[in-house]
Amino acid sequence: MSVSLVPAALALQLLWLLGARALQVGVGIADVTGPPAEIGFMGYAKLEQKGHGIHLRQFSRAFVIEDENRNRLVFVSVDAAMMGNGVRQEVLKRLRKRYGDSMYNDTNVIISGTHSHSTPGGFLMDFLFDLPILGFVRETYNAYIAGIYRSIVIAHYKLTPAKMMYGETELLEANINRSPTSYLRNPPEERARYKYDVDKTLAQIRFVNPTSNKIIGVINWFAVHPTSMNNTNKLISSDNVGYASVLMEKELNGKNTIPGTGNIVAAFASTNLGDVSPNIKGPRCSKSGKVCDQETLLCKLPGEECYASGPGKDMFESTKIIATRLFEAGMRVLKSPGEDLTGSVGVMHQYVNMPEESVFPYDPVAQSFNETEKVHGCLPAMGYSFAAGTTDGPGAFDFKQGETTSNPLWNAVRDFIAEPTKEDIKCQAPKPILLATGRAKFPYEWQPKVVSCSVAKIGGLFLAAVPGEFTTMSGRRLRDVVGKMSGAKKVVLAGLSNIYSDYIATPEEYQAQRYEAASTIYGPHTLDIYLNKYAEMTQALVQGKEMDPGPSPPDFKDDLITLVPPVLWDSAPWRKEFGDCVKQPETEHSYGDVVTATFVSGHPRNGNKRGKYYAVIEKQESDQDDSWVVHATDADWETKFTWRRENSVLGTSYVDIEWEIPAGTPKGVYRIHHYGNYKYILGGIYSYEGWSQGFTVS
Ligand code: ZN
Repeated sequence: MSVSLVPAALALQLLWLLGARALQVGVGIADVTGPPAEIGFMGYAKLEQKGHGIHLRQFSRAFVIEDENRNRLVFVSVDAAMMGNGVRQEVLKRLRKRYGDSMYNDTNVIISGTHSHSTPGGFLMDFLFDLPILGFVRETYNAYIAGIYRSIVIAHYKLTPAKMMYGETELLEANINRSPTSYLRNPPEERARYKYDVDKTLAQIRFVNPTSNKIIGVINWFAVHPTSMNNTNKLISSDNVGYASVLMEKELNGKNTIPGTGNIVAAFASTNLGDVSPNIKGPRCSKSGKVCDQETLLCKLPGEECYASGPGKDMFESTKIIATRLFEAGMRVLKSPGEDLTGSVGVMHQYVNMPEESVFPYDPVAQSFNETEKVHGCLPAMGYSFAAGTTDGPGAFDFKQGETTSNPLWNAVRDFIAEPTKEDIKCQAPKPILLATGRAKFPYEWQPKVVSCSVAKIGGLFLAAVPGEFTTMSGRRLRDVVGKMSGAKKVVLAGLSNIYSDYIATPEEYQAQRYEAASTIYGPHTLDIYLNKYAEMTQALVQGKEMDPGPSPPDFKDDLITLVPPVLWDSAPWRKEFGDCVKQPETEHSYGDVVTATFVSGHPRNGNKRGKYYAVIEKQESDQDDSWVVHATDADWETKFTWRRENSVLGTSYVDIEWEIPAGTPKGVYRIHHYGNYKYILGGIYSYEGWSQGFTVS
């Protein structure tokens, strides 16, 4: 008896060990805030929208997931407008250098942008996307690479046994369809399956300790554009979804946790948000305030613009309201029991040359592929409505052919844009072609032809990571196809992943040629190609088959051009030093007050302050030894860091740092601390710091 007991105990222990290893999860967060001054924001394509400071910092949130067979998957949600191939390849290169060739690779690392429109651009390399920013911006590019890499490394070292719970809830009052007339083009039989013209489900997975149920990390997906901050905003912001993440991380890590520093990471990642706006008051005329015509987006008064806003009185309040609704819905799911979907991990990835694809079209009524005909992809092209913009940002992209615009880079390259061929016109019909980007060769590729597609399996959940912005119905069709092919309990779509290729409207929506359809670059059957590809990849993943990796996207690292001027020099005004506080806060304050201090500053682009701060609110610990602790930073909602240039010849500038004192702030003495760097006229960059006088909060 005693002999057989030993192996039995061993087997039990082994089983327990295996069980404990069933799933391992690590989470990591790192700052990716790009250059915060005089660099154009990516999203609205508005030349004048350049950064002048920081409201909310940008973070990369990484989740490393490994099953018992050491199959590994990385999912990263980054507070950026989207992800680009150049940044991703550089992140992968650094991971390979650190961990060898097999651990992290082209297949198992998915990087999804949240799609905030208030973050610096110039990192995508494809020429059209960097054009509104005046070209490539190395500082943005480097900030994203370093921060994303760092977040994955942190997650790598934090792997710990976990189980995965799934939950969802319906969230009303946080999104509307911004092209409802296009949505109506989809077949009535198909629309009848859904209650709303946008998805109202917030889907969530949480990773918890298998024994204590303590939360390790959370990923939420809810379809909404992070465009609560509009195209007049000049402060870097992670917008509604970014602030929802900050709120949830504060709730889970402790209310006083500085954003980006807690152990538990909570992402609000992008999904099929293509036609979905957070501006739930809907499109209204800028002067009369009346509802404007949905189809034409026209207003009656001269010079009047039609744009959407709400639900707050201004964009800051709207961002806060939408973020709070997302956060509260996420917390509701987090507090519910959820469904245990723990299981094996797998991922399938393929690069697809879209213009060269020929596939069977999808019949959305029969929910199957029509194998009696073939449809084809087209060379990338943008339609006229693309230049008109959306109700989240009207008429922003003013790059019409033959017109001289305020964008010097466009004026320089305009004549190099090729004419569309007869073939292009036929292929893209009924899209009237504004820019035949697929034929443009100068200075390098304008829009990608090769895209990145991946399907991942995390236990009972399938994740379809897509290289663009799927509209509501496009996303539903994709989830249906992947669900059918996999038999998965849940399917989630991860938007704006790995490579950016604009929008994906359904073939029916394409006929209406509104903004999303005009920006569906591979023609009317773009979605059909994706549905075929994802069906094929899902099947291969389920059956454990290999797939051809596809053609590698081109690399234009050596061709990049930029018209973004560097910082020339900084100087402090006469008889002043960098860091001098030239406007002191009042000495006494209470809750709700906005405390402001102004400092002599250098250009914020001088110092790469990644992981550090430009502005910190400090609290005095004791008045005996003059020791101060960080109470809040420029990553907090309550602070605003604004840079303003005074004289570009002299190189003088100032920063205003604001702190709105939240209710519940402990009584005591506080001060504002500014960190910066200045560029000396004869060369060299030097750091400086400055403090305001202390003030009491009572
Ligand atoms: Zn978008």
